[in-house]
Amino acid sequence: MANPTLRLPENVAGDFYVDSTCIDCDACRQIAPETFSEDGDYSIVHHQPGTAEGIRRAMMALVACPTASIGTTEHHDAHIGIDAFPSLIAENIYYCGFNAESSFGAWSYLITRPESDGGNVLIDSPRFATQLVKKIDGMGGVRTMFLTHKDDVADHDRFADRFGCERVMHADDGATRLGMERVIRSNEPVRLDEDLTVIPVPGHTRGHMVLLYQNKFLFTGDHLAWSPNRQTLIAFRSACWYSWPEQIKSMEKLRDYTFEWVLPGHGRIHHDSAANMRAQLEACIEWMKKRA
Ligand code: SF4
Repeated sequence: MANPTLRLPENVAGDFYVDSTCIDCDACRQIAPETFSEDGDYSIVHHQPGTAEGIRRAMMALVACPTASIGTTEHHDAHIGIDAFPSLIAENIYYCGFNAESSFGAWSYLITRPESDGGNVLIDSPRFATQLVKKIDGMGGVRTMFLTHKDDVADHDRFADRFGCERVMHADDGATRLGMERVIRSNEPVRLDEDLTVIPVPGHTRGHMVLLYQNKFLFTGDHLAWSPNRQTLIAFRSACWYSWPEQIKSMEKLRDYTFEWVLPGHGRIHHDSAANMRAQLEACIEWMKKRA
């Protein structure tokens, strides 16, 4: 729970606040932008929620916050936020919430599918929180866990123990050392089943991969994201740990695919037509080349 003695003075007066343990991961601003905004290296409360829905969104942010940096001075039923996760994004795609500090608050996602279609897929690891695990269990558990890269593995081993899922990760990001059941070794795309394609995209890390579902939803880890400030798709130049030239080549590989959604670990989600997404991808590649 947040510490009221660490309450940032930039918060507006009132019930909800952010304390100085905030790591500026952006999750609360994405979940409840009407309440939370950026202020230097922190998030703050810029507007107190005034409706039941506003309070629900703020409580979701409180639950998702990886560092428990969001607090309230009044009592609220925590289940308002807890029970909202996994939170539906579109069709059978959910945001898990319960972001993990060890992943710097990266977002993780759940695809729900009947067992006959291959079963549920967890993309990157949320915190292993009892309430979330129970909910996921009730939604069919986890058959496959796809890990985009080594930074966002969080509690992968506990999910694997609990659900007996097959974890998929690239060898170049330490998959063998981490005990993954399925280790991807080449940089060629791999079809996991009819609807799921793994695409290795070295750059951010050596073994980074993205996952394409039904030629519509692209789970991008830290390879590609939407920037609300620039209103364009971006790659993280200042957080490229392996090779920017390789990341440019990897971005060019995505020209071979069609997608309408970008669902990243960090940065914002984006949805558009396949044609517009393609144009955005081209603009991103051109921008990356100028930053080489
Ligand atoms: S979710 Fe928590 S750590 Fe992330 S920006 Fe908000 S207050 Fe900070």
